[in-house]
Amino acid sequence: MSAPAVPTEVYLDRLGRVRAAMGEQGVDVVLLSVGHDLPYLTGYEAMPLERLTMLVVPRDGDASLLIPALEAPRVVEQPGVFDLVPWGETEDPTAIVAKLASGAGTIAVGDQMWSRFLVELLPQLPGAEYRRAVDVVGPLRRVKDAAEIAALAAAGAAVDRIAAELQAGVVPLVGRTEAEVSAHLSRRIVEEGHDKVNFAIVAAGENAASPHHHAGSRVIGEGEIVLCDFGGTMAGYCSDTTRCVVTGDVPADIAEAYAVLHAAQQAAVAAATVGTPCEEVDRTARRIIADAGYGEYFVHRTGHGIGLEEHEDPYIVEGNELPLAHGHAFSIEPGIYVPGRWGMRLEDIVVATDAGPRPLNASDHGLATV
Ligand code: ZN
Ligand code: ZN
Ligand code: ZN
Repeated sequence: MSAPAVPTEVYLDRLGRVRAAMGEQGVDVVLLSVGHDLPYLTGYEAMPLERLTMLVVPRDGDASLLIPALEAPRVVEQPGVFDLVPWGETEDPTAIVAKLASGAGTIAVGDQMWSRFLVELLPQLPGAEYRRAVDVVGPLRRVKDAAEIAALAAAGAAVDRIAAELQAGVVPLVGRTEAEVSAHLSRRIVEEGHDKVNFAIVAAGENAASPHHHAGSRVIGEGEIVLCDFGGTMAGYCSDTTRCVVTGDVPADIAEAYAVLHAAQQAAVAAATVGTPCEEVDRTARRIIADAGYGEYFVHRTGHGIGLEEHEDPYIVEGNELPLAHGHAFSIEPGIYVPGRWGMRLEDIVVATDAGPRPLNASDHGLATV
């Protein structure tokens, strides 16, 4: 399934709001290369290769999309949004960018431009001041419109169907390696309508104590917790959910910790109301886990924003005072990780709305025995 066509008006509107932010922040030119600001503003995702793709957005004047000539056929033109500027194999693309941006006093650069191109560009635009474009585009991107929320919800429902299979014992675990189960989940992610798999973490027993464990050759046994955290990209938007299951009887220490984790996750979802600072949502989960004596085992932030990227603004973390707004989409995923023994995490994507927090994952939140 490929992304449904986004109307050109949506890109024009986004570009208009970028220009308004540039005006407020005194930015003359925005330069966006690989990364997801580019598709957000143009519908085009650059190939993350050595040839330069770059959107040059002057505050006043037309935007240009500089593109390797051989990749030009991939671009869907958006009249009024950008002019296409294909460059040939023997041309110097940074010289073209320098020409388009000449005279700019302040230039905002996307986080994911290869440093190679920035290094080549700097001496060609002497005297310019540089900033991060995330300050210009980020505040727009983190507020999802109705179509974006619908896309996130569809991706969430797709991974929920896989989580339900996991919990029902439809996905064989005992006797298989983590890598085999990861491959199984990955295949299902695509079958359920995603364009690509972003990750399928499968971590059994003591391996689950490593939050980003890479599924490996460990064979899953009886009586173990198996943490599965998986997601992909569907019609441009990401899914991300974590569920844990136990093969056989649930050991008492795991059952006890899971009850705490479950309560913490549910409380943090409920706390994710419009106006609540991101850090307060993090504190809500952390307080419950700490009060139960597991504080030292919750080693990461409570969540991350999600949209075109798996991890983006807003981050649900101590120190982020940003108040949640209608349309913010993010994960709520506290975890408890006891090194050498076991680990657990429970993750839903949630959208803050004026009507309250709206979870986009609805598979069972309990610790299923399979
Ligand atoms: Zn993660
Ligand atoms: Zn996840
Ligand atoms: Zn996540």
